[in-house]
Amino acid sequence: MYDEKVLEEYINHPKCIAVGECGLDYFRLPEDEEEKKANIAKQKEVFIAQIEFAKKVNKPLIVHVREASNDSKQILIDYDTKQVGGVLHCYNASEHLLPLAEHNFYFGIGGVLTFKNAKKLIEVLPKIPKDKLIIETDGPYLTPHPFRGKRNEPYYTVFVADKMAELLEMTREEIDNLTTKNAIKLFKEFSSLS
Ligand SMILES: [Zn+2]
Repeated sequence: MYDEKVLEEYINHPKCIAVGECGLDYFRLPEDEEEKKANIAKQKEVFIAQIEFAKKVNKPLIVHVREASNDSKQILIDYDTKQVGGVLHCYNASEHLLPLAEHNFYFGIGGVLTFKNAKKLIEVLPKIPKDKLIIETDGPYLTPHPFRGKRNEPYYTVFVADKMAELLEMTREEIDNLTTKNAIKLFKEFSSLS
């Protein structure tokens, strides 16, 4: 059950820098057609409510997208999220979402980039505008290679940074500076952090 009162209770805490994670997940939908429709409608309704809330409190969104790229993109554009922007967390490598870079969305890259089967993400990575790249953990899940399967911790993000440097033909230092700068920009510009 979505209850905005719960969000209101925490939103002004100094450590609260964003709204989320929220978004659409069509990976596990009910099989029954009617139930499926109702589930999708409810997900959209709650997502839109959280978008409006983020805009009201002027904080960026942390957005989860799983097998719902079209609807997610449509909603983020239709509801004019540019003023707050946000992160497409664990970016799913859908090229369909790339235009969201122009709407102030950053692309959260995690451990998946280091996986042997990460073909799609490896291919799409250079197409993400550099000023929209962010590194994330998604701990305790998606632990980078060579620690895949272990509990994920923020200190493993160095493996993501190494892989990103290799793929973008940049130095590790350049990746560190770039992704740090991007994160600070997003979370400072649209939040009360100072
Ligand atoms: Zn998620």
